[in-house]
Amino acid sequence: MQVKVATTRGFCFGVEDAIELAEQAIDDHGAGNIIALGPVIHNKTVVNKLEQEGLNQAGELETIPEGKSVLIRSHGASPETLQRAKERKLNVVDATCVLVKRAQNVVKQLHEEGYKIVMIGDANHPEVRGVIAYAPEVIVIDKGDDLDTAIPYKERLGIVAQTTHAPEHVASVIAEIAKRPFRELKIVNTLCLEVTRRQEAAVALCKEVDVMFVLGGYHSANTRELARLCIEEGMSTYHLETWDDFKPDMVDGKTIAGVTAGASTPESVIQDFVAKLEAL
Ligand code: SF4
Repeated sequence: MQVKVATTRGFCFGVEDAIELAEQAIDDHGAGNIIALGPVIHNKTVVNKLEQEGLNQAGELETIPEGKSVLIRSHGASPETLQRAKERKLNVVDATCVLVKRAQNVVKQLHEEGYKIVMIGDANHPEVRGVIAYAPEVIVIDKGDDLDTAIPYKERLGIVAQTTHAPEHVASVIAEIAKRPFRELKIVNTLCLEVTRRQEAAVALCKEVDVMFVLGGYHSANTRELARLCIEEGMSTYHLETWDDFKPDMVDGKTIAGVTAGASTPESVIQDFVAKLEAL
């Protein structure tokens, strides 16, 4: 089978930094003494490898014994979580991506400037849960939500978005907000260019292939967004974690396959997938 790979794909600098920090922390604190608050990134292959190297994982801060080190993942954490970590005398290793940190600061600043803050994103995503905690009240909305009930009228609105959302997606929600009566709209672009570049490369590749494979964790928001964009292009698209999820009937009648991957997918997973697909 002929296989074409997206020019921009896989690991972003935020994920690379988080993995490097995690590995450094294992070296500094010793295997078993550093505990990540949730999966460092949304990729099982990477998380399992770090676990084998000695990085433990906890769902709740309260389950981490006092005196241990806690790793804050690339999605960031709320100020309240960081404060509780301090109170429990945990040593904090902060792997929050700089772009997520920027979104947190933007929300804090918009609040200080008196804006009613609206975040376009998935309310259940850890990045969004962390970012909105930097102001007392943030309205979280996404495409398809009822804006009439969610967005207050005649207000000064400050708008930010989840870093992994596609620009067109965010623009369409902003356009809907702008149709309603508002006093002022301040939009701060918090989208991640690393994600946008992967999205553009995936959409471009859709024009050259007849089936697309988007590799990445099933919980990875940016991988899911990549798959959604390919489907929107009318492409037959499969979001898979690794080659283990591949089924031969996915390429029945297809001659050229495209492969891309989310920002938390290691190049080794991509290369393994491509080699096996080419060998079909
Ligand atoms: S995708 Fe962007 S925002 Fe998310 S970790 Fe990577 S660089 Fe940071």
